[in-house]
Amino acid sequence: MNLRNAGDDVARAVWTALGAIADPEIPVVSIVELGIVRDVRCGDDECVVTLTPTYSGCPAMRVIESDVQSALALVTNRPLRIVTALTPPWTSDAIAPEARRKLAAAGIAPPGEVSRIVFQREAVRCPNCGSMRTEEIARFGSTACKAQYRCRDCLEPFDYFKPH
Ligand SMILES: [Zn+2]
Repeated sequence: MNLRNAGDDVARAVWTALGAIADPEIPVVSIVELGIVRDVRCGDDECVVTLTPTYSGCPAMRVIESDVQSALALVTNRPLRIVTALTPPWTSDAIAPEARRKLAAAGIAPPGEVSRIVFQREAVRCPNCGSMRTEEIARFGSTACKAQYRCRDCLEPFDYFKPH
């Protein structure tokens, strides 16, 4: 096995470990499923993990970085370097389809795909009953990443994971 392949094996193990890290604000999905992990490169000297915050200034990023450090310490003894990439910016298009299903199952309306949002106010489907008759109650919900919505049919309030 040459060194390059050894690094690739480590990178695969790193991806697997990262895939087990839950997003601190939305624990039903992993940081890989949300598209926060952009790149993993493992060389002989170090592993470089590139992260893109879903919302710049999201305080969760510090938690995520510390989770990444703990998880990677278990799979490699190479020094870890975390790079934060702000360009190109994260968009909700990076969320994996499986993660969208998990969000909906957890009662969080997944963000619409950015490319499909034509109107200034996006139509948000109620995760409880599927109705499109929903209204925004607060632009910022339990966290800056989510808005608070209410369904006008089943009257249930719910979180909407805002696209951007
Ligand atoms: Zn409803």
